[in-house]
Amino acid sequence: TEAWRPDDEERRGASGPVRVRVPAKVNLHLGVGPLRRDGYHELNTVYHAISIYDELTARRGDTLTLTMEGEGTGELALDDSNLVIRAAHALAGYAGVLPHARLHLRKQIPLAGGLAGGSADAAAALVACDTLWGTGLSREELAGIAADLGSDVPFLIHGGTALGTGRGEAVSPVLARPTSWHWVVAIADGGLSTPQAYRELDRLRETGAAGPPLGSTDTLLAALRQRDPRILAPTLGNDLQDAALSMRPALATTLKAGEAAGALAGIVSGSGPTCVFLTADAADAQRVATELEAAGVCRQARVAHGPVHGARVT
Ligand code: ATP
Repeated sequence: TEAWRPDDEERRGASGPVRVRVPAKVNLHLGVGPLRRDGYHELNTVYHAISIYDELTARRGDTLTLTMEGEGTGELALDDSNLVIRAAHALAGYAGVLPHARLHLRKQIPLAGGLAGGSADAAAALVACDTLWGTGLSREELAGIAADLGSDVPFLIHGGTALGTGRGEAVSPVLARPTSWHWVVAIADGGLSTPQAYRELDRLRETGAAGPPLGSTDTLLAALRQRDPRILAPTLGNDLQDAALSMRPALATTLKAGEAAGALAGIVSGSGPTCVFLTADAADAQRVATELEAAGVCRQARVAHGPVHGARVT
């Protein structure tokens, strides 16, 4: 008989808790193209992972359970509709293992904020359960399962800065010399529904009330390579911003307040209502955040930097 080797145990997964940290995303460029036959819009986007994190801890268990603390506690359902549970089931199904785990989510990314918090949690669950169960999938296999869970999920596995095409699920990294960009993230009271924001954009476009579409990401990508926030600032753009402003006119005041406080540029993040501001450096970011909170134009203003890694075991 063969001798027992600790390696075998390792390969069958982790025995202790697995903790995964996953970032929020912003879209530096969110170009929304035509509505496709499958109901999604064709996107041309540049994703950017920033240092606001959710954390998912996975422990061994006899069933699949989810508990949580932080943003959205009491509001967010912890049943099969939760993206964490859906991700765990998807991975277990793919790998042919039982979906047994005790999962605990510590949430800092606001709900329905346009920061892809739900997608981040799905990415975290894939990485955490893959380690806990020792299923050992490649990043590409995980990204494949991720794409079925949501358009932003593959990016949140990768992190960094990346180009997204298709409905956003096809990601390729943007290669750039290491730079840190300094952001202020103005979190609003309450959320905005992403499907509703897309419908509002369609309506604005039909009535001719939407601005011209952003088009190519070339200018933004060239600006990223310059590593100068003053060059990057005027290239940031979001086709969903008109829709978010139409649904939540007060966001115009938030955007103005950030720029008045010294931000180089401000845009709505994804489908909103979170607004993100690019600043010259970390000290400026702190100043802008303090002024935004004092002006009472958001629930909370947080400083963040990017790019940061995607979902990772800590
Ligand atoms: P996006 O930028 O990808 O559109 P968002 O940041 O606007 O996303 P999310 O917080 O990702 O919004 O979630 C939107 C909805 O997804 C929530 O209102 C909720 O109903 C559902 N959802 C399911 N699971 C989760 C989860 N773990 N965290 C947050 N939302 C979840």
